[in-house]
Amino acid sequence: MPTQSQNSNIDITLKHHGGKLGVTGSCHELRIHRNGTKHGILIDCGLFQGKDAKDKNGNDKKLDIEFPISHLKALILTHTHIDHIGRLPWLLAKGFKQPIYCTPATAELVPLMLDDGLKLQLGLNKGQRERVLELIRKQIKPIPYNQWHRIPLSSRSSSLRSSSSLKTSPSYLLLRFQPAGHILGSAYVEIKLPNNEIVVFSGDLGPSNTPLLPDPISPKRADLLVIESTYGNKIHDSVETRAKRLQQIIERSLQDGGAIIIPAFSVGRTQELLFDIEHLIHHNKIDSKIPIILDSPLANKVTKQYRRFKKLWSKEAKTKLNNQRHPLNFEQCITIESHKEHIQVVNRLKSTAEPCIIVAASGMCAGGRVMNYLEALLPDKRTDIILAGYQAHGTLGRDLQCQKSRVWIDNQSVEVNAQIHTMSGYSAHADQADLIKFVEGIEEGRKEIVVVHGEREAREVLEKILDATSC
Ligand SMILES: [Zn+2]
Repeated sequence: MPTQSQNSNIDITLKHHGGKLGVTGSCHELRIHRNGTKHGILIDCGLFQGKDAKDKNGNDKKLDIEFPISHLKALILTHTHIDHIGRLPWLLAKGFKQPIYCTPATAELVPLMLDDGLKLQLGLNKGQRERVLELIRKQIKPIPYNQWHRIPLSSRSSSLRSSSSLKTSPSYLLLRFQPAGHILGSAYVEIKLPNNEIVVFSGDLGPSNTPLLPDPISPKRADLLVIESTYGNKIHDSVETRAKRLQQIIERSLQDGGAIIIPAFSVGRTQELLFDIEHLIHHNKIDSKIPIILDSPLANKVTKQYRRFKKLWSKEAKTKLNNQRHPLNFEQCITIESHKEHIQVVNRLKSTAEPCIIVAASGMCAGGRVMNYLEALLPDKRTDIILAGYQAHGTLGRDLQCQKSRVWIDNQSVEVNAQIHTMSGYSAHADQADLIKFVEGIEEGRKEIVVVHGEREAREVLEKILDATSC
């Protein structure tokens, strides 16, 4: 970089405060220099996880916001995964008072996701957490999909107005969210510059043909595209057949008894899994006596929001609802709320090895209730673990995926005798073909493409295919 706009009064640069060279800590800044003044728009403010959370000396990376914020005009959130919103409390602590734009569903999910993070990472009590969340709620401005909204660049035009026919002028930018198909409320972001050029930030894009959410549709124009590359070097197993593959693994796993543990992100993965499990139960492919245990208070709350925002579901999912099915709320699913109840279930399964399917957070086995299940049940060879999503370097999930015979949990070495299965069809991310399709669908612009949010090989492979720049 820098990326220079053609307009003589304005030039733009991209700054990356995380999520450029790794897949966590997403935080990009579109910096606009206009008539000699600097303005910034921040896109996401995520937490570093796994190996990204260490500095070059191996120390934990500070959560402090180590970049200037006084010139920032807004924060835009693409979706509520913690690696995209987790540093938000620290941004506010540094004095960020500007609007936080996101979709209405994201606005509902942000406090849920952060409440969990503030409790787990900082150990804040309920009152302290509520004070932080109240501040965030006040700054959040929900904007529905497919509507242009103004982001003023000068304080004189600071009122927020919405209109689909706004004429651009040099004093503000226009912002629009479009469905990204990644998780509920997720969006890619179009930012129209005063010179009418459009910058697009993909956020995290979803794969094609998932049953619960509609596929992302490419923007018409993107002069500068900042695109994720989590799976820039991979093609997923077919989404259409994933329920069948899940059924096969479950059938095999249940032959010797024992628990099936599916670590899952509370938002997105859990709901996709429940959706498919309900499908298998409906078609008598899973024994009606096998308990499906959803052990994640956060996932329970998020699932309620998925049910609330049914209008954002795909056609296929809506059809099920019209046929009196309840894909995210079925009888065989037992939800565990209290910690006491959770410990009872863990102990019971450890002593009985009775067959059941447990869906619990976190998705990369980097905390959450799934850890107690793993510590108790990994040494038992009757246990099966289904890794249904991306496992970042440095996480326990990645260690399991690499078939390590011993892992560390809570400073204890735990023997792994369980069977480990990986299912990529459950990724909430676009694969290489989906990413290329997204780019090729852009009809106008495409002057510059910047590839972010990927490990080195994934990024470089996609860059080469797209012939993109690496800034
Ligand atoms: Zn995400």
